[in-house]
Amino acid sequence: MHCPFCRHSDSRVIDSRTADDGMSIRRRRQCPECGKRFTTTETASLTVIKRSGVVEPFSREKVMDGVRKACQGRPVTEADLALLAQRVEESLRLTGVAQFETNDIGVAILPHLRSLDEVAYLRFASVYQAFDSLDDFEEAVRELRATRAGAAAAGAAATDPASAADK
Ligand SMILES: [Zn+2]
Repeated sequence: MHCPFCRHSDSRVIDSRTADDGMSIRRRRQCPECGKRFTTTETASLTVIKRSGVVEPFSREKVMDGVRKACQGRPVTEADLALLAQRVEESLRLTGVAQFETNDIGVAILPHLRSLDEVAYLRFASVYQAFDSLDDFEEAVRELRATRAGAAAAGAAATDPASAADK
């Protein structure tokens, strides 16, 4: 690994620790040439096959970009979006598969967005699942109500105090 400061072609690992609940490893490195220290993050790469056939690395930023539009005007912060993207990545990694289609990413986003904001979820689902009539919306709203009734019965209102607090 090249030193980012002086471009020296080698660096020495001085510390390694797991981060993100074991999803990645952070290494502290030191350049033997200039002595400066820097950090690298190592994760198993997830890839996405786009509809065009192009393969690209999975990116949390792209998940956030994809969801941000559906969240316009909703009480959803950038921190909420970052957490959602992290959870989507975790759920993808849990499948044990390393390559996904664009469609799989959408499927993985839906449940997390639903627990974050129901209106944003409906907007995202309407585009992603190509709702083309009021019936599709009614069906989605009916499902939301059923899930909410179920959650209330279980005494588990799905609000996350951590994300509510940093608004
Ligand atoms: Zn250096």
